[in-house]
This record gives sequence, structure tokens and C-alpha cells, in this order.
Amino acid sequence: EKTVGIIGAGIAGMAAGIRLANKGYEVTIFDGNDYPGGKLTELRLGKYRFDAGPSLFTMPDYVDELFRISKKDPKNHFSYKQLSNTANYFFDDGISLQASANPQLLATELEDKLGEPTANTLAALKHSSFLYDHLADLFIHRSLHDVKTFFNRQAFKAYKVLHKLDLFRTMHAANRQRFAKDKTTQLFNRYATYNGSSPYLTPATMNIIPHLEFGVGAFIPEKGMHQITESLFTLAKESGVEFRFNSPVKKIILKSGKVTGLRVNGQDHPFDNIVSNMDMVATYKRLLPDTKAPARLLNQPKSSSALIFYWGIKKNFKELDLHNIFFSGDYQKEFDHIFSKGDIYADPTVYVNITSKEVIGDAPAGCENWFVMINVPHNSGQDWELLKVRAKEHILTKLSGVLKTDIAKLIEEEAVLDPIRIESKTSSSQGALYGNSSNNRFAAFLRHPNKSRRVKNLYFCGGSVHPGGGIPLCLSSAKIVTSYFPDLH
Ligand code: FAD
Repeated sequence: EKTVGIIGAGIAGMAAGIRLANKGYEVTIFDGNDYPGGKLTELRLGKYRFDAGPSLFTMPDYVDELFRISKKDPKNHFSYKQLSNTANYFFDDGISLQASANPQLLATELEDKLGEPTANTLAALKHSSFLYDHLADLFIHRSLHDVKTFFNRQAFKAYKVLHKLDLFRTMHAANRQRFAKDKTTQLFNRYATYNGSSPYLTPATMNIIPHLEFGVGAFIPEKGMHQITESLFTLAKESGVEFRFNSPVKKIILKSGKVTGLRVNGQDHPFDNIVSNMDMVATYKRLLPDTKAPARLLNQPKSSSALIFYWGIKKNFKELDLHNIFFSGDYQKEFDHIFSKGDIYADPTVYVNITSKEVIGDAPAGCENWFVMINVPHNSGQDWELLKVRAKEHILTKLSGVLKTDIAKLIEEEAVLDPIRIESKTSSSQGALYGNSSNNRFAAFLRHPNKSRRVKNLYFCGGSVHPGGGIPLCLSSAKIVTSYFPDLH
């Protein structure tokens, strides 16, 4: 049983391909697009280059490890640097601050600018580190669908401190109690958006996320985020993985409850094993129409999506950094709009990512490449044309007000990405960025497993299955999938 067909050349599909090729399998990856990387792609507008999807890189070791198992030194193939400043934050009342990656410097800045006692910030980061130490192994690095996951040393370590894992209140409730100032609460609440959830709904256990930035570190590849895709694509090809682009898979072919191949462009390709990197809702609906789908897992509420304006800006802004946040004046109302009303709040939090601050050549001299993103609901049939027009006005009002410059006049290139296009380009159900939301405390247990329980030799990786969305978790899913395959060497 040597051959593997992978559906999708997203980062998880490519990582699974690299790992399986290294175990001695013959791997072919099919992608409907004419490029690899799925959501992790790039865009060129005139003289500007943009990373089109993810902008924050954490846990780089998941990428490095793919080189190491391929007997290559990652340093020679994939270079990235650690950020000393995680983000610049701007509030409507004129207060702004720099969130250093160094906990002590961050705590001092929050005291200076917001009046937050340093002890509170340091205690919050210590707690985040504690959560990571007790939960990462259980919820990120392993399958949650193997009994043995729950009977090892790491699992028992978590059970012993169950009461401290903060499962029974929301992230906001915990942060409001922890911090003296509303602005600090808002800053730490923002980490819920790292997996497309609401701080007012997601359990406080998600306070594990700040540790990724302040403990493990935030990074940027030397040539921008798209370098992750390029490096993995090259490594996969060098490992012997075959790629077929413009090749949308139309069917997973089964015989007696076992996979036998894939139907692509009207042709049947036999395979012993199939790994789907396609969104799992779409996999069941479109490729396995005759297989009983696990309805409960498929129907879980989806994460938020995004509306992104890619703007070529003909000016340099010294007050801006690689990551910049312009906060909403009412965060709770913003999330209420996204998750309860399925709408966009008139005063959204605006995220501006400017890779030209770090990557030479991403914008012409004197100019910057702005990736301007707001969190929006996943697609449930809203009038996106209307929402985009309104959102652009609100974003321009906010940015122009805080930066005291008419931003509209500086835009010389523009492209837009909305939830409908995210879904059509990557199959992501309802255009969600991170698969299911984590807006309830059972979410981790309601993601689809990495190995099918119904169909023999069918596996799943990527942001819509366990352990969840985001680059590190997708790469972890590929590692978990591969652990089911015996080494053929
Ligand atoms: P995807 O990227 O979802 O790709 C799936 C691939 O499968 C696509 O190439 C698609 O063409 C292919 N495919 C689908 N169906 C078929 C078929 N039937 N036949 C053949 N091919 C098929 N993560 C972070 O870590 N940090 C961030 O800052 C961050 N920001 C984000 C911002 C945006 C705007 C978006 C969209 C996402 C962001 N994410 C971020 C999430 C991250 O991009 C995703 O979790 C991750 O890239 C998903 O990878 P994946 O392997 O699941 O595949």
C-alpha cells in the first residue's frame, strides 16, 4: 500500500506530502488552482507585492522540522527572523503603544501608556505560559481521537491542574478580572481572533495564545509569508512529490468501504491511500456524496472570515510597524455584530500589515504595501458588495482620523478579498479562515479527526480538522496524519 493521493496543495497538504515521501510513499498532490499554498499565497499589484493571506508566523519549528526530516539544514533553505515588536496599537482617543515581544518591556509600556500595573501583565503572560505548558501537547501536537493521547504523562499533567485551565468562563471574563484597565483587557482579548473566535464567547483557556507571541515568538520569513509556501513547494518536489495543478478532484472513489482512487478531470487515478487537505465539509458534500457524513462535526459554527483591502500607499508612515492594530471603540459590539448579527460593525478594529517594513522590494521607495483587514462574519448569504463599500468607508474614516492623513488620496493600487472569494479559491466552508470557531469549550473535541472512522485509508489534514486553523496547527495536522502511516524504509 504505497501510493498516496493528496487533495489540495495547501500548506498542510504539502507538509503531509513531504512527510509521507520521506517515509517511502509515492505521493501525488492535486490542486484545483494553478498555484500551491491555498490561503498562503501572494499577490502583485503594479510595483507592490503582498502576502495575500496569513501575515503572522508563529511556531516556525513546524516548518524547520520538515527540512530536518528531509536531511536538509533548514537554515540553508528557509530563513526567518524574530520580531522584537509584536504590534503597534492605536486607540481612538489618541493613545498608541508598542507591544514589545519582551514581557518586561511590554509590561512597562502598558504601565506607562495605559496605567496598567506591570505585575498584572507579567502574571497574565505567566499564566499563558502555564496553559501552553500543560495543554499544547494534548491539544496541538497529538490526535484527540486516539485513546493513548489521554493516557500519557502530558495528559496526566493537564488533569492534575484541570481547575486552573480556565474552561468555565470566557476569555473576556478572565481578562477583565486580571487587568485594571479596559484597554489592556481589549489588547489581550484580541488573541481570540487568532483562531477566528470571539473573546466574549471563547473559553479563557484560549489565553494560551499570547504565549505563542511572547514566549515562543513571532516571526517573519526573510522574503515574506509566501516564502513558507515557496520553500515547502520546492522541498516537496525535491522529496519526490508529484504535483498536478488545475486539477480539481471531483470524487473519492470507494470500494467496499475503502478508498481506491480519485476522479480528476474526467480520469480515474488509482491510489492506496487518500489524504484530503480540502475543507472537510466540502470533502463530504462534493467528493463523498454517498458516504454518511458526521453531521454533528460538519455543522459546528464556523470561525470568522475577513475582508481585506490590498493597498499600494504612496507614502511612508514612521509611526507604523509590520503589524498595526487600530482598535474599535466598542469591542463587544464589534464581536456581537460578527457572531450574533452576521454583520460588520460600523467602527471595526482595523489591522494593517505592512511587509515592506521588513522585506526589501515589497513596495517602491517612499511607498508601503498595506494589507488592511477587518474581521467579518463567515458568509451566510450577506450582500457582500454592499458590505464592502460600507466597510471601505468606515476603514478610511478610522485610519485617516488616527493617522491624521487623508488615506484615500494615497491609494495607488487596490485589490479586495472577501469571504466568497476565500471560499471559491480554497473550498473553505462559508469562507471561514480557521474552520470551526472555538466559541464553546467543547470545540476542540468537535473537530473532525485526522483519520476517517468510516472509510478505510482516508485521512484529513488542514485548517478544518483537528487540531484547527492557522499555520502551526495545519502543519501539526499533517504530522498527526503521517503518524498513522508505517515507515516503508
Ligand atoms: P488551504 O490553504 O485552505 O488550501 C486548501 C487547498 O486545497 C487549496 O489550494 C485548494 O485549491 C485545494 N482544494 C480544495 N478543494 C480541492 C479539490 N476538490 N481538488 C483539488 N484541490 C482542492 N494563519 C496563521 O497562522 N497566521 C495568520 O496570520 C493567518 N491569517 C490569515 C488571514 C487570511 C486572510 C486567511 C484567509 C487565513 C489566515 N490564516 C492565518 C489561516 C491560514 O491561512 C490557514 O489556516 C492555512 O493556510 C490553511 O491551510 P490548509 O492546509 O488547511 O489549506
